[in-house]
Amino acid sequence: SETAKPVPVVIVGSGVIGLTIAHVLTEGAGAERYQVTIIARDLPEDLSSQAFASPWAGANWSPMQYDERLHRWEKQTFDKFWDMIPTGLVLKLPSKVYFEHEDAESQVWWKDIVRDFRVLKTEAYLPSNVKSGVEFHTVSINPEIYLPWLKSELESRRVQFIKRRLVSLDEAGKLAGEGGVVVNATGLGARSLIGVEDKKVFPIRGQTVIAHAPKASEFVTLIPAVKGDVATYLIPRPSPPGMVLMGGTFQVNNWDTSVDIATAEGILSRAKAFVPALADPETRILSHNVGLRPAREGGPRVEAQIVELPTKGDLVPKLVQGDDESAKVLVVHAYGFGPAGYQQSWGAAAEAMRSLCVLRPSVTS
Ligand code: FAD
Repeated sequence: SETAKPVPVVIVGSGVIGLTIAHVLTEGAGAERYQVTIIARDLPEDLSSQAFASPWAGANWSPMQYDERLHRWEKQTFDKFWDMIPTGLVLKLPSKVYFEHEDAESQVWWKDIVRDFRVLKTEAYLPSNVKSGVEFHTVSINPEIYLPWLKSELESRRVQFIKRRLVSLDEAGKLAGEGGVVVNATGLGARSLIGVEDKKVFPIRGQTVIAHAPKASEFVTLIPAVKGDVATYLIPRPSPPGMVLMGGTFQVNNWDTSVDIATAEGILSRAKAFVPALADPETRILSHNVGLRPAREGGPRVEAQIVELPTKGDLVPKLVQGDDESAKVLVVHAYGFGPAGYQQSWGAAAEAMRSLCVLRPSVTS
């Protein structure tokens, strides 16, 4: 009803997924319907923390393997980002994808998502392993600008931010209280958060080089014939002017967050082979980076679940202790986005919202 009290929602995690879910929840009438608190160990201002993935992403919309569910999220997110181009937060990005096999077009399931798609005549300067290619327009963002922007949007909608590491899901349940909702957007944290403990969650290490390269204005990537550890790409950013990110590596189950110099040299030499514009004398390195993509066997988990929280017992944290034996909380899980958290963010957030409404129909009317 009109006078209903707002539903308390505690979102654990302040990466792109937790922030985007908060944004979708508080849109329009949602701002009155939900009272959202975000609790996270790492917040959008902690841009140098390697304990979360979001600061380290490319981040662009870049084709991945086909999957019906992900395709839906990726299309929805592409369209959303495309509409945001006039804000300056999102760059309309001329793009080239090269393949190590002859028939590029047969690999391309995403040509109706991106814009201005066409098959490319391969250029003379390309390495001999490039056999075919396509060009199109996609989008990119700069996480260092986009994440703080999301946070400021949410603060203007009275979303509260608390910097804290939680040990167990129960703590979030207790904070949400009776009738509340918990959103679990903890990325790799879902592996160790008590009450979730999802051992299907694993890291994919990504090392990158950020440079000022004002002449490199296209996204370029090579899709190898055989999938491996090495990922070659260059992604220009909307701002600051001339900034590009080069990758990289795709090292499954590697938790090492230190920079490897030999890897950095490999990234640069491969990028130069594809992007002659890097030879421009104005090009200079700005930083070397490592991030861990929060992946999950079987793909991302986005689903709602009623969880019964224990409130008694020696192992139950003090914060969660209560008079009843247990408490019931609605938990919406949203983690395991691996290499594609940005490009799935708006679609996945809409899905999280739908699954919340299915299990909590009283708040949807
Ligand atoms: P995270 O950003 O890891 O956030 C997790 C949040 O949960 C953090 O706030 C953390 O502090 C919090 N948390 C965890 N455990 C706890 C706890 N116990 N208590 C409290 N808080 C907790 N994606 C794209 O779409 N396009 C790209 O081009 C792209 N390029 C990438 C390049 C690299 C090198 C890397 C590393 C990643 C790239 N990604 C890209 C992937 C993207 O970065 C991730 O998919 C995305 O950031 C995941 O967001 P998330 O919110 O799920 O997790």
